Amino acid sequence: MNQHKPGKTDEQWRESLSPEQYAVCRCSATEPPFSGKWYRHKEPGTYVCAACRAALFASEAKYDSGSGWPSFFQPTTRAAVSLQQDESHGMHRTEVRCAACDSHLGHLFPDGPKPTGLRYCINSLALDFEPLK
Ligand code: FE
Repeated sequence: MNQHKPGKTDEQWRESLSPEQYAVCRCSATEPPFSGKWYRHKEPGTYVCAACRAALFASEAKYDSGSGWPSFFQPTTRAAVSLQQDESHGMHRTEVRCAACDSHLGHLFPDGPKPTGLRYCINSLALDFEPLK
């Protein structure tokens, strides 16, 4: 399914991503809230990794968190994302990465809706969208 295999060099990532995407996906930057193209997006389909096209979140798992970033209560599968402890910026957070290519996606917070109670807070720049055919 993956268009790009993990293990690209830094130079290859720079070439294949926009500067804004590179900053988020490969350098863990955070886009400004309410700035992203998928924040208010409501069409049926699948949100995929902007870097490697792996399926990450179904539109059914998207909800309006009011946070300014696309928010999901679960990934497509448990194995689609990897979680890492993130102690940067003086905070204890759980970082969410694409399991296939290790790109930074966003963070996980325990304040989501049922059924999981989780909020996967994801940068629009780390996502692309494939509409339901
Ligand atoms: Fe990926």
